[in-house]
Amino acid sequence: MNEQASEPSSDKISAAASSQAAPVPLRVKVELGARAYDILIGEGLLEQAGALVASISSAKAAAIVVDENTRPLYADKVSAALDAAGIRSAVITVQPGERSKSWRGYGEVCEAILAARIGRDDLVIALGGGVVGDLAGFAAATVRRGVALVQMPTTLLAQVDSSVGGKTGINSAVGKNLIGAFHQPSLVLADTRVLDTLPAREFRAGYAEVLKYALIDRPQFFEWLEANRDEIFAGGSARAEAIAECCRAKAEIVAVDETETGDRALLNLGHTFGHALENVTGYDSSRLVHGEAVAIGCAMAFRFSVALGLADPAHARRVEAHLAEAGLPSRLAHVRGGAGSVETLLAAMAQDKKVRHGTPTFILAHGIGRSFIQRGVESQHLRDFLLSELRSNG
Ligand code: ADP
Ligand code: ZN
Repeated sequence: MNEQASEPSSDKISAAASSQAAPVPLRVKVELGARAYDILIGEGLLEQAGALVASISSAKAAAIVVDENTRPLYADKVSAALDAAGIRSAVITVQPGERSKSWRGYGEVCEAILAARIGRDDLVIALGGGVVGDLAGFAAATVRRGVALVQMPTTLLAQVDSSVGGKTGINSAVGKNLIGAFHQPSLVLADTRVLDTLPAREFRAGYAEVLKYALIDRPQFFEWLEANRDEIFAGGSARAEAIAECCRAKAEIVAVDETETGDRALLNLGHTFGHALENVTGYDSSRLVHGEAVAIGCAMAFRFSVALGLADPAHARRVEAHLAEAGLPSRLAHVRGGAGSVETLLAAMAQDKKVRHGTPTFILAHGIGRSFIQRGVESQHLRDFLLSELRSNG
């Protein structure tokens, strides 16, 4: 697919990896000066976690944060690997789901980390999806004023998005992710084999974020996804390559705009509409999960761009066709239980934390791989567009 072959692994890390006779992982570096770190992507990385962690840290102990689903699947594997490298570990379990990203969940994880005698030179490991990553990451950012964090993402969404870039946090009664900190990990291990146990719906939802990177600024990646979608879903090297390309895309944007004052907003393609849909469906995962909302949001961003005369309708149709082939929704009519009214959608958009000085920011596109940031849109245009979206049944 891509022109940029991944760089050779750093000496220490490749020595750690090859000592276990596993395939050499793909490596993406996040260039953040003194806080630069590697993302490794490949099969069987959890088995090598001890040696890999030891290659970047002198920690003697680690708190492994998991949820009730990832604990029985992967916690023992990581503990054993750490043990073999002389790192003692304690496992901290939270309930699965967004509700753990609360003050209470955060307090419990922080206290458990302290009770496990994790010192400033030790580690917090987030072994789970985006929920565990955000929660454990925020705990790591604040316990003892900051403890090193290793992300071991176990969902496709977390491997391509939330584990990279340092955003951590919990939800407030006012809205999602409103309390948090930037805390970059010291290492990210994306073991592609763990995605085999992920429910199919969660995998598909994560794929919406994969597609998002292609739509932002990678037209060739989009073509490659069109040709390789089945193989990515099946696993193996195409899956690892797709994840690596997403991590490269995210790493590039994070390196130039770590705290989202500019270009990092491009990563919100599909999210202005998507967050509004999550809001109007009450964050009820039986109706809509985040990735599905992003899928519809990306298709809407393209149709809105067409409606504003910015993009060719053929591009929007190609995005919709790809989403359909991947088993993802693309229209408001696909939302179980309905997507509300123009008024509820507008109200939800006005609440988005990306609203600055009253105007929501839209990521629009001139075409596939040609997105841009549009701060503020004529409100009548938005209203008309939402009305036409609600009337259309696809
Ligand atoms: P996301 O990563 O999409 O933000 P979550 O952290 O909520 O979402 O994870 C989605 C669901 O998948 C949760 O129920 C979680 O426990 C479960 N899960 C995470 N990783 C795996 C895995 N590798 N295998 C099986 N289930 C998993
Ligand atoms: Zn997202």
